[in-house]
Amino acid sequence: MSMTVSGITRVTGVFGCPVGHSQSPAMHNAAFAQMGLDFVYVPFDVHPDNLKAAVTGIRALNMVGVNVTIPHKERVIPFLDWVSDEALQIQSVNTIHLVDGKLRGYSTDGEGFIRALEASGKSPSGSKSVILGAGGSARAAAAALTLHGAEVAVANRTFSRALELAETLAVRPIALDSDDAREAILNADLLVNCTSVGMYPKTDDQPIPSEWLHKGLFVFDTIYNPLETRLLAAANSAGCRTANGVKMLVFQGAISFTIWTGLDPPAEVMEKAVLAGLQTRP
Ligand code: NAP
Repeated sequence: MSMTVSGITRVTGVFGCPVGHSQSPAMHNAAFAQMGLDFVYVPFDVHPDNLKAAVTGIRALNMVGVNVTIPHKERVIPFLDWVSDEALQIQSVNTIHLVDGKLRGYSTDGEGFIRALEASGKSPSGSKSVILGAGGSARAAAAALTLHGAEVAVANRTFSRALELAETLAVRPIALDSDDAREAILNADLLVNCTSVGMYPKTDDQPIPSEWLHKGLFVFDTIYNPLETRLLAAANSAGCRTANGVKMLVFQGAISFTIWTGLDPPAEVMEKAVLAGLQTRP
């Protein structure tokens, strides 16, 4: 893809540490090019000690805004002028937008997850769901699912973190390796993996035993590398409907894009760029 950066090009990007494997630059730059927008998206490897200076730099450099990824999503909050209710509730910001000199923070992970779920053919409304994990993405998915009328149980390896999550969200906390978790999954119609178990390079790992899977489950794995995790392979064998994390990545990015530009990006172009990037650099 060719791109021209001129004196009036508007700058967006992502702050992370590390950011070398991020698919977001390819995804956003493909969308900017397709829409003929004079914007560029740049990866910035920001050490946690430099986060405040980097955020101040958004204003100093008159950038449009940035995405924020691991490990900065929570720590960035005190440096912003305004944070959306949704982001405050889950204590996570993944999108910053500079408006009239003020830094505004949003989280697009939860809504990105819901759009991906719906695009994969599963409605959250009225579903009985079990989320595996209690970290940042689990908090986003849990908040979004409850908002969209799902019943939610959260099963985590460290039970105290599931309990903590249940203090702020209407979810049932469960220990991951327990009879309660097995029973909740047997009675559920939606299972969402928000742990990092099975992610590249530890692709042989699986967060729950295959025997807990059943035909009535829709299994959504938020991991997108590999495209088919061990969990998804087991779910496919058990006759479940499944989806990987690619569409979630695309939709959370598409919502950030809309926050920055006021425009709807071409999701299919963004998805193509992500899939091409994953093929060349896992
Ligand atoms: P995080 O905040 O670090 O949380 C990690 C979670 O994984 C915790 O609940 C942790 O449990 C659990 N975990 C880690 N190792 C485990 C193990 N060996 N056994 C059982 N549980 C284990 O991370 P995150 O930001 O939520 O990200 C988690 C996953 O979501 C990543 O794989 C990432 O690829 C995916 N994700 C995808 C998207 C997307 O757009 N598709 C966006 C964000 C994240 P403990 O509390 O016990 O440590």
